[in-house]
Amino acid sequence: MSTRAYIGLGSNLADPAGQLRNALQALEQLPETRLAGVSAFYASDSLLPGQPRYTNAVAALDTALEPLALLDALQAVENEQGRVRAERWGPRTLDLDILLFGERRIDLPRLQVPHVQMHLRPFVLYPLAELLPAQTLLADGSTLAQRLAACPFVDLERL
Ligand code: ATP
Ligand code: MG
Ligand code: MG
Repeated sequence: MSTRAYIGLGSNLADPAGQLRNALQALEQLPETRLAGVSAFYASDSLLPGQPRYTNAVAALDTALEPLALLDALQAVENEQGRVRAERWGPRTLDLDILLFGERRIDLPRLQVPHVQMHLRPFVLYPLAELLPAQTLLADGSTLAQRLAACPFVDLERL
């Protein structure tokens, strides 16, 4: 049985768009997984001052992996692309976050799904809206359309 999962991709080091393209190729190679869709790429300034601009996208996966196995696989891809975990929210070659995993709610030390911050982040919501209907209910009880209205398309550049 496979589950539709949505993955947030982000990079702000070492050719961010190239990092995302490489990551998408790696996602296509994951075991028991099919890459079902990819949004456009979006550029935006970092939320923290002094960091290079980010490039972000969202991918849809159909996967038979369990959530923690998927997280392991995503972290292996991050590591292969040179992710160094220095400070939290520091600049990074690649960030792969599980935004949604079917309808599952997961609250483990290593994994919270839906992603806790997703409904607050324009660089997640706008690419996600390319892949999901606007009436989709998010974890905070609002619809994707309501969250988009609350997160204006400011300093977000569709590449
Ligand atoms: P943010 O979660 O605010 O986007 P980040 O992506 O920069 O921050 P990371 O350094 O990539 O954070 O990950 C820190 C830890 O978050 C990971 O080791 C992982 O175990 C945990 N984590 C919890 N929930 C998730 C999730 N939904 N997707 C990916 N990692 C998660
Ligand atoms: Mg992240
Ligand atoms: Mg992350």
